[in-house]
Parts: sequence; structure tokens; C-alpha cells
Amino acid sequence: MSYFSFLPAPARPDSGFNTFFGQISPPAGPVFRTQCPAPPGCPPVANAQCQPIIRGAVVSAIQLANNAASMLETGHPEAARLFQFFFGHAPSRPVPWAGNRASGAIVAIRFRAVARALQSRGTLFRCNPACTVNASTCAGSECSPREPNVVELCQGFWNPPAGLHLAPQFFRGAVILHEMLHLLFTDFFHHPGHSSGDPVRRRDNAHCYEAFALRAAGHAADHVDVTACRTRPV
Ligand SMILES: [Zn+2]
Repeated sequence: MSYFSFLPAPARPDSGFNTFFGQISPPAGPVFRTQCPAPPGCPPVANAQCQPIIRGAVVSAIQLANNAASMLETGHPEAARLFQFFFGHAPSRPVPWAGNRASGAIVAIRFRAVARALQSRGTLFRCNPACTVNASTCAGSECSPREPNVVELCQGFWNPPAGLHLAPQFFRGAVILHEMLHLLFTDFFHHPGHSSGDPVRRRDNAHCYEAFALRAAGHAADHVDVTACRTRPV
């Protein structure tokens, strides 16, 4: 049985309706909003493809998150091996500050939270060709103005790097999974240099979750994520 059989049915073809922010997906599919600027939109992607590409990435992110959670919840041996590789300890390790709950179970809860939010939160995915990273999230108190339910899709999202052994849809889905972790757990997932002084270990490093989810689903991970994860302390 494929682990994808745990996943929601594919979204229906686009039949949403327009709002101030753009198109809202139909109720049966994931509920999210998109904002795609007028042509040239999000180069090199044609403007008409902006919304369908975001939809495909959101659906893929839900698949990746649910699959990663399922494999951890069922104690899949490959999940345990990948968990050790990315997070640096066994998923069965008890976490004292979480009532001795297993570390893998806590990570699975975060993956499920991402899938649920993508399904129903109505997050706005905004094409922003002015920013040069893959994507960014502005959900915390440092943002001005604060936008707690917005993910900006930057140049890297629209231009997947060459040499990835990974379909663009899943590359983009993993990027969205990463950003949703920031958005949902804004005081937990940081990157080095954060003003809080957070040392950024692997358990609070969205790169680790992103690479784990891709590998757990049988995809290659982006080496940038693997490096950004494994160079952090356990
Ligand atoms: Zn990040």
C-alpha cells in the first residue's frame, strides 16, 4: 500500500471565484487564497499558470506533510532511519518538557498541523517577484505590517534550481510546507541570526522537516535543505 493512500483526494480542477485578493479554491479542495500580479506576473511562469502552480504546490505540501506524519505515527522503519539522519536522534526519544512524549510523535503533530492549516486556513499565497529567496513568511512580531496568514512566493519558488532530482511541484510543495511551519509556529521555527538569539537546533529548523518530508515520500531532497539542517546542532 502506498503511503499516499492516506492522503486527501486530489483537488478538483479550478472552479473558484474571485475576491479582492484573488481566487478562492472551491470548498471541497484546500482553502487558500492567491495573489498573482498582472503580467509579467511571476517570471518565467506565464500569468495564467500562477494560480494552478500554487494549487499544485499546496496539494503536494499536504501530501508530503500527511505522509511524513503517517510514517512517524506508524513507526515505519524508513521514517526512523531518516529521522535519525535529519534530527540526530531516534524518534522514540522521550521529550522531558513535553511530558516525555516521543520526539517523533511531536514532529508528526507539527506535520499534521501543517496539512490541516493548508486544507482550511485560507492562507494567502502571494507571488512576490521582488524577493530573491524561495519564499518568506511574515507572521511574527518582527513583521511590519504583521501578516499572520501570508506566504510570499519569491523568485526561487518560480525558478526551481537546476540539478534537482525532484519534480518542480514537489520542490514547491516542500517550500510551502517549510513556510507553513514558520507561520504556524512562529516563535519556534527560526533561522540562525534570529534576534531572539535562538541557537536553532534541528528540531526547530524548518529545513530539517522539509528534507525529511521529501525523503520520506521517496523524493530526493534539496541539498540546500540537507546542509542547512545537518550543520545545526542536534
Ligand atoms: Zn525558513
